Amino acid sequence: MTQAVRVIFLGPPGAGKGTQAKQLAERYGIPHISTGEILRNAIAQSTLLGQKAQAYVDRGELVTDDLMLDMIRERLQEQDAKNGWILDGFPRNVAQADFLEQLLGELNQEAKQAINLEVPDGIILNRLLQRGRKDDQEDTIRRRLEVYREQTAPLIEFYRQRDKLYSVDGDRSPDTVTQSLTDILEAATSPSNGNCASAPSEGS
Ligand code: ADP
Repeated sequence: MTQAVRVIFLGPPGAGKGTQAKQLAERYGIPHISTGEILRNAIAQSTLLGQKAQAYVDRGELVTDDLMLDMIRERLQEQDAKNGWILDGFPRNVAQADFLEQLLGELNQEAKQAINLEVPDGIILNRLLQRGRKDDQEDTIRRRLEVYREQTAPLIEFYRQRDKLYSVDGDRSPDTVTQSLTDILEAATSPSNGNCASAPSEGS
């Protein structure tokens, strides 16, 4: 693969974004940027960000945009993000998506694909209950699913309008899903044959 992978994962909590993002990050040698993980680390270390974010995370609400936007701007400017990235958990509402689009334009790092990992609701609830993270209590899960439907699902349309949307069935074995994802990334990032023809030489 000759071009940078820059991909955004959409899809409800429990769709398998984290699992898949980890696989792809390893395969392509690029960072997996999970805003949920960054927040959980900040909370564990009780940084200022962690202290401000904790109540939102515990309730299954979105952390406020002012905190999230600073975080993502800093993260995308780190050295390891220059060669590509996988975004997992950001953007999560239209304001974040607008901000990201502008930021990536400034950094010259336009996202190439947004992948919607689709999994039916009934399966999601079971997956999350089995995972048993601190914010995986049934009430909090229900709230996260509601927040997803209200605030995050509209991003599917946002990226469809920009011709970046790919939908992938997430209700299959992890390896099968990874295979579908690599097919999408590699089809879209290898140089198209049309551009490979050598230019007609001038002169002699
Ligand atoms: P899940 O995929 O199970 O929803 P995440 O690990 O992505 O979990 O996120 C956990 C929590 O972190 C969210 O419920 C939310 O409180 C917070 N969070 C993560 N990313 C964002 C974001 N982009 N904007 C606001 N809050 C976020």
